[in-house]
Amino acid sequence: MRHFAIVGSGPAGFYTAEALAKAYGDAARIDIIDKLPVPYGLIRFGVAPDHQSIKAVSKRYDKVVEESGVRFVGNVAVGDGVTIAELGELYDAVILATGAPNDRRLGIAGEDLRGVVGSAAFVGWYNGHPDFADLDPPLDAEHAVVIGAGNVALDVARILSKTRAEFAGSDIVGHALDALERSAIRTITILVRRGPHQIAMTPKELGELAHLEAAAPVVDPADFPPVEADSALEDRGLAKSVGLLREFVRLEAGARPKRIVFDFFARPVALEGEDRVEQVVVERTRLEEGRAVGTGEQYRLPAGLVVSCIGYQTPMIPGVPYDHANGRFLNDQGRIGDGLYCVGWARRGPTGTIGTNRPDGYEVAEQVAAALPPGSDGDKPGGEGLDRLLCERGVMATSYADWRKIEAAESAAARPGAPREKFVRRDQWMQAIRG
Ligand code: NAP
Repeated sequence: MRHFAIVGSGPAGFYTAEALAKAYGDAARIDIIDKLPVPYGLIRFGVAPDHQSIKAVSKRYDKVVEESGVRFVGNVAVGDGVTIAELGELYDAVILATGAPNDRRLGIAGEDLRGVVGSAAFVGWYNGHPDFADLDPPLDAEHAVVIGAGNVALDVARILSKTRAEFAGSDIVGHALDALERSAIRTITILVRRGPHQIAMTPKELGELAHLEAAAPVVDPADFPPVEADSALEDRGLAKSVGLLREFVRLEAGARPKRIVFDFFARPVALEGEDRVEQVVVERTRLEEGRAVGTGEQYRLPAGLVVSCIGYQTPMIPGVPYDHANGRFLNDQGRIGDGLYCVGWARRGPTGTIGTNRPDGYEVAEQVAAALPPGSDGDKPGGEGLDRLLCERGVMATSYADWRKIEAAESAAARPGAPREKFVRRDQWMQAIRG
């Protein structure tokens, strides 16, 4: 028998468990450990609440843990409740699938002013992450600025623009829904340090901006070359998104009161305000060999809320070598050291779609299987040893059965038409488990 611990229950963790379960069958026991009492990581806390079809992938993950030999062990913080060295003693291999839930910093003056938040915090707030339930972002000013040109910037701009009715069928948490309904924000400027040809936004997500009930995208035609000279329109990867941006130029805003303004070739250089952010100092840029360089021309944008969506990093774990330049674990194709691996964003950095984690998890599972061929035996205690250790330390781990009770209680508490009302505090989860 072999014993494996996967740390993190997001997509990378579940795909790795699925691959190991397939490779080993009955000859392995797999524990998926998470610091939160509930599973799914990015699916529950990252994917936008109005993208329910993407969240439906958790049904596939349910099947993995419903297989015999795979357990969910929630409410256990690795690096705190149990160390990596201890997991190494208990399991034949440990696979870190801890994602990249920490915000990268902008590194500019004024970043710590009230009203300046990273996307991990802001997304965590509207998605019911317990660490950010009390964020209370200021939505009382007319202008907000979103920094970055990726899909997260789009998620944030869209969520800030939607009406209450547009959230029907979503699982946005009640505290965010109520606050957003009262929001005074009318203009959301997306600051993009390079041009429309360099965006990381994907067409499906970009296209949603054209169909919002109360908001319209605004794009300056001066940011594009003439159509006949626009090589991006011939590029398979870019044609759709650049085409959409060009269509936004012609879009009639009509009576829609809110604007999502794309400010290209614009980078933030400072955030200013007395006790909270009031404006963003922006520098015009130009492209030099694909990089944004400042032109020295500056202007100020009013902003009562600034959300930086410039990427994430993996939290460090004591005893695990770290790649500071890229904000992930130091690894060679997923291998960190003897019996220690990483997958997903903890391995590659925060790029790709949810599906990208599938081949990633399978590849690392293959490496594990090559090092410990299925059928070979070990003498590690596995989950039983972990349970003993947690019991000694008074850590109350949650199981998949506990999660199902939480899920049932969250469904029962849902607004009409919503799939669930997420609980955001540990005591609510624990109460649901106790019934
Ligand atoms: P991303 O796609 O890497 O975009 C980050 C953006 O931040 C880039 O536009 C980058 O510009 C900009 N940026 C970085 N540092 C900056 C700075 N100091 N100042 C100004 N701008 C800066 O990251 P993401 O949006 O966080 O998304 C992470 C991953 O999740 C992506 O693969 C994304 O596609 C995926 N995702 C998918 C969905 C979906 O499919 N619905 C939703 C959300 C996220 P440069 O290009 O100039 O560096």
